[in-house]
Amino acid sequence: MHELSLVMHLLDVVEEQARQETFQRVSALDVEVGELAAVELEAFRHCFEVASSGTVAEGATLRLACIPGSACCRACAARFHLPGLGHPCPQCGSTHLEIVAGRELRLRALEVC
Ligand SMILES: [Zn+2]
Repeated sequence: MHELSLVMHLLDVVEEQARQETFQRVSALDVEVGELAAVELEAFRHCFEVASSGTVAEGATLRLACIPGSACCRACAARFHLPGLGHPCPQCGSTHLEIVAGRELRLRALEVC
């Protein structure tokens, strides 16, 4: 499952930070999820609950912030909100777009006990 591999990666990052900064327990995580990252938020939450068991993030609150998709048209240079991949430029109809934001899945902050 796509979400599970993302969660595993996220937990790797958290455990690595726990080693470097020597904390034992995470009480909350702030994670940014791009609108274009194709992440099912409920599935992501569920995977997190299952996969975080036995890690420093066990029982932590997962706060997900959605980052809107944003693109820049290579043909006419318009910048616009992109709700999903495969949408053309609303100004000129070109599909040569550069994704500016919305693909990320990023750990923004950790709260530790
Ligand atoms: Zn355009």
